[in-house]
Amino acid sequence: MNSPTFQILMLLTVILVVIMIVVLFAVRYANQQIPGLRAWACSYLVGLLVCFNFLARPHVPEGLSVVITQALIFTSAWLNLAAARAYTGRRPWPRAYFGWTLLASLCLSSYLTWQQPEPKLRLALGLMAASTLMLLSALAMLTKEIKRQPERYLFTLACGGHGLLMLATALTQLLGQADLTDPERMGAVAQFVLVESIVVLVMRAFGVLMLANAHITAELRHFAERDPLTSIYNRRSFMTLLDKSVNLMQRMNSPLSLLALDLDHFKRINDTWGHGSGDQALRHFVQLATDHLRNEDVIGRVGGEEFLIFLPNTGLEAAAGVAERLRALIASQPVAGAQSSITLTVSIGVTLIARGETQEAALQRVDEAMYRAKAKGRNRVEMA
Ligand code: GH3
Ligand code: MG
Ligand code: MG
Repeated sequence: MNSPTFQILMLLTVILVVIMIVVLFAVRYANQQIPGLRAWACSYLVGLLVCFNFLARPHVPEGLSVVITQALIFTSAWLNLAAARAYTGRRPWPRAYFGWTLLASLCLSSYLTWQQPEPKLRLALGLMAASTLMLLSALAMLTKEIKRQPERYLFTLACGGHGLLMLATALTQLLGQADLTDPERMGAVAQFVLVESIVVLVMRAFGVLMLANAHITAELRHFAERDPLTSIYNRRSFMTLLDKSVNLMQRMNSPLSLLALDLDHFKRINDTWGHGSGDQALRHFVQLATDHLRNEDVIGRVGGEEFLIFLPNTGLEAAAGVAERLRALIASQPVAGAQSSITLTVSIGVTLIARGETQEAALQRVDEAMYRAKAKGRNRVEMA
């Protein structure tokens, strides 16, 4: 453990961990909204204490040094898990969970150090605790979301691989003959562990940076594509999606229908109940509409209280049916307001996008149908 190679590797680890801490805290400082980033940076900070503890080993009683190292590794792995859970939107565990498990593991490793010295068992249990936390961190990232966010794979691989290796080592200690605490083997084992730790530390840090980047990109995309009040597509991204869908449907020779919706007398709602209630009514309308539509249908907010919906693989009759059901649903579900409920109605125009026609022509036609619905008394559906 005190060989020059070990000392050089240790120094290298310290330098790398310091760089990672600085980078992670800097990214966290600039992007406070990214969940888990602070806990990840703190996890590396505790990792640095582990390194110092190793370097101080010749000057500290061995038992004490081992107990402290195990507690620090446990803390670092716990912070990593807490960060992964926060990043993936899970509720944080109560702090007491950490306090009690740390205390239990401290008591156990102290017992196996001074009361009933069992270095092999102590190492195995320490490894099992840390590997459990690492495997749980990998599992936290392994949700269906991983397909939409492939940046999660690197972190999962780093934590999962490290966790499995620690678990395998713990099992060889418990079941096999090999004793890694044997002073004869310690040197080689320590060097291997250190090299593996360096690889994992770097991989995990890059994984975390990729996750931070993925979070920022998703956020920016959301701001660019979505309407801030209702979170549905804004005019620009709706038109882009419509354009793509028109091309695709025409290539597949499938019908594509378009709906234009305008809330009736919306100005009155604002004037009577205030702008806040108007906003609430808009969100209420969007909630009902998105719940009613299929996954492949796309809705966009193209003006203040004006919306467009396109329905892939849907002919005119079916689209008129969707529009009529939506109209009836909106009229039957008032907005629950603070003082009283507000009844909302919507006028809808429906059209089928014809083969070879431009998007603009279809948009104009569906708009005219919607204005016809207004002219005929509102709260109704008109087909073009
Ligand atoms: P019509 O039935 O003819 O469509 O009548 P209307 O009152 O709905 O139509 P008009 O175009 O005169 O008014 C639309 C109103 O929508 C005016 C505007 O204040 C309101 N509006 C637009 N955007 C928002 C918004 O983001 N929040 C709120 N609360 N109101 C909005
Ligand atoms: Mg209106
Ligand atoms: Mg309008």
